Amino acid sequence: MTPPREQLEADVLIVGAGPAGLSCALHLANIIKKHNESAAKPELSTENIYVLEKGREIGAHQLSGAIMNPKALAELVPDFEKTAPLDTPVTDDAALFFTEGSSFRFPITPPPFQNKGNYVVSLNKITKWLGGLVEKTGVNLFTQFGGAQLIHEGSGIAGVITEDKGLDKNGKPKDNYTPGYELRARVTVLAEGTRGSLTKQLVAKNKLDNINPQIYSIGIKELWDVQPGRIQPGYVAHTLGWPVATDMYGGGWIYGLANNRVSIGLVIGLEYANPEFDPHEAFQKWKTHPAIKKILEGGKLVRYGAKSLPAGGYYSMPRNYVDGGLIIGDSGSFLDSQRLKGIHMAMKSGMLAAETIFDALKAGDTSAKTLSAFTKKVEQSYIKKELWAVRNFHQSFKYGLYGGLFHTGLQFLTGGRGLIDPMRVEAGYRHYHKIDGHPAPERFKGDGKLTFDRLTDVYHSGTRHEEDQPCHLIVHDLNVCATKCVVEYGNPCQYFCPAAVYEMAKEKDGVKLKINAANCVHCKTCDIADPYQIIDWVVPEGGGGPNYEGM
Ligand code: SF4
Repeated sequence: MTPPREQLEADVLIVGAGPAGLSCALHLANIIKKHNESAAKPELSTENIYVLEKGREIGAHQLSGAIMNPKALAELVPDFEKTAPLDTPVTDDAALFFTEGSSFRFPITPPPFQNKGNYVVSLNKITKWLGGLVEKTGVNLFTQFGGAQLIHEGSGIAGVITEDKGLDKNGKPKDNYTPGYELRARVTVLAEGTRGSLTKQLVAKNKLDNINPQIYSIGIKELWDVQPGRIQPGYVAHTLGWPVATDMYGGGWIYGLANNRVSIGLVIGLEYANPEFDPHEAFQKWKTHPAIKKILEGGKLVRYGAKSLPAGGYYSMPRNYVDGGLIIGDSGSFLDSQRLKGIHMAMKSGMLAAETIFDALKAGDTSAKTLSAFTKKVEQSYIKKELWAVRNFHQSFKYGLYGGLFHTGLQFLTGGRGLIDPMRVEAGYRHYHKIDGHPAPERFKGDGKLTFDRLTDVYHSGTRHEEDQPCHLIVHDLNVCATKCVVEYGNPCQYFCPAAVYEMAKEKDGVKLKINAANCVHCKTCDIADPYQIIDWVVPEGGGGPNYEGM
């Protein structure tokens, strides 16, 4: 007989221990401490704040470029410079334009690429450090638990059910089977990161979408140890141009860290037309550009990772409150895709959520009406100011690179308005062109020194999943893959997945989709970019996934 679910009750349940979730927990705990010290009523307890993290430890799933604007951290932890693992301050920033064989440095670095005053960091280390501060406040942090289902109540939410543990690949209980917990809370905060699986359900069910749907990019990153003298710590460069075609959105980054370490990566807008385009391959090609090659040659790949990022900004921000629930961080579209900055906005959104929740708990009213104060706080904060100035940025690149630059130039001069405001877009997967029946392209293999195939890269992501568990990539109709998608789009999942999870295996009577779920680095691209929208990414058994140590 299936054992019953254990029920736990909290005041606040935060799903996701990234910069948004942890900042929410820490700020709320600090406010509660002050409130209790003043002997004001009602007394609240930090022990009634729960945080869930699906990674094997705090920080394991945190991936970013990552340049951090420290202003939110300075509000949250005023003396952060004493203890935070800030790798290195930005000392020089450049904008480069690549052609295939050469590069051109813009004489003046455009304002969006200026980073003086910011830090190059490892988001993995920053969140680990923040997690330690949160734990000291008495907040309950549970790693290796994901939010598998929302508990809906009325028109809102009342908590989550965590994933069942110990199911085999057919969904049958094994000896170590433990049903997921039913965690009920007065306020549930969705801080799941990009394309949160619970956020997706809630936005669809409660029709929370803004005037534009959320649109995404994919970022692919490697961390290298390079020969001494190849890059200065604090040197930051962003690249435009080759190998990204002019009808696509994309660009690269090169960030110098301490101890001859360099963070490199390529971001590609997930609204390209060619369904056989391979973002991982584009990144590998980008590394062969002379300007990158001269830094990496003789060096060693240390780590690899990939994640999607919400690029839609202000006009794609879902309504961020419901009865008993808030949406923060990347899940809530708190990212400036022009500056590629999300960490400080994620933190600030978490802090504003904490202030809203505190007022709601004190008033004993966690209805949508009370929690809507969160949106007002966002509107009055620098989040609104920063996102409003770039509200039409990413959309402009639907006119291609040069059209995009033209529009963003005008937007810069008009405070974000430009020629068309609001500029509308459709979801990225709607942009695919149908293939014309040509043979599938050859897969990129890499030279094993400078460039790598996807499996070699996945090995460097530290990804691990329990093999004998239900597949966490739910394809609702495999027939569509084998009969329709293969003809119309050539199965783009084989190309956009940066971890070689999807393969079309040849069978006697055609092709069949094979899913290597254990490779999944949790980037969520398949959930976003599948042309038929029949893939649902759901949480695997807690603790599975990448280990972005030092990323
Ligand atoms: Fe990303 Fe989906 Fe591939 Fe996992 S299976 S790595 S979520 S594209």
